[in-house]
Order: sequence, then C-alpha cells, then structure tokens
Amino acid sequence: MIVALHVATGAAAGAASGSRLAALLAGPILHLAGDRLPHQDIRSRRFEIGSGLASVVLLAVRRGPLYPATLGAAASSAPDLEHVLPFLRPGGRKLFHGRRGWHRSGHFPADLQLLLAGAILGALVAPRSRAGSGQRPTSREPA
Ligand SMILES: [Zn+2]
Repeated sequence: MIVALHVATGAAAGAASGSRLAALLAGPILHLAGDRLPHQDIRSRRFEIGSGLASVVLLAVRRGPLYPATLGAAASSAPDLEHVLPFLRPGGRKLFHGRRGWHRSGHFPADLQLLLAGAILGALVAPRSRAGSGQRPTSREPA
C-alpha cells in the first residue's frame, strides 16, 4: 500500500483513539492490515518517501509532533522504512514485508489510494470546523 495512505490511516486511528499509546500500538497493525489488502503500489521510491514524509511533517506542523494523529501516522508508516534502511533488516530479512505473505498485490488502484490519503489528511489538518456547535454566526440568513 502506498506510504501516504499508511500515514493517513495511522493518523485517522490516532486521532480517533485520542491516545498516544494506542496510536503507537495501532500503527504497525494498521500497516500490516493495509498491505494485506490487495493493492497497487507506486514504483517511484522517491515519490513514496517524499509524499509520506511530507504528510507526517504536515501533521506535525498543524497538530504538533506529539499529537496522537501525528504519532499514529509515524507508527503506521514506519514499517516501510525497512525497504530503505538496511539496518532494519537484520540478516537481510524484512520483518513486515518478508516471506510471511502479508503483502498482497491487487486491484486497489494507487491513484484512489492517493485520493483517499489526501481526503483523510485534509480533514485531519483542516482548521477545526465549528459546524454543528451552534456557535457559527449565520450572517447571510434572510431576515
Ligand atoms: Zn508496507
């Protein structure tokens, strides 16, 4: 699964749980679950790293580095670091993407994943809406 969507699902889970610990624990599980879904991948490693990193940084800037959504995003995307950092593969073995068969290729299109990731992240970093609280002044209302 594309990194940006790992980031987005981790962030959403972190935000929903409201707990840093839960966000950190849920991350790797969500990563495995996401990779298990038959999906397309983006071949450009540069794009994958860039978009993932940008998404986590965006969350950290807008919500704070220790906000559950930010921690969840980092925890959920972290397992993909073993693709690029050799020291995370002791004995050359990948922990999350090894032979155990979690990773499934399939029909979940990469551009749809990207769209979903953008929508989720957009909602999470958007300024807090006050809709529904009854506080928002409605200036355009007919008298
Ligand atoms: Zn993965």
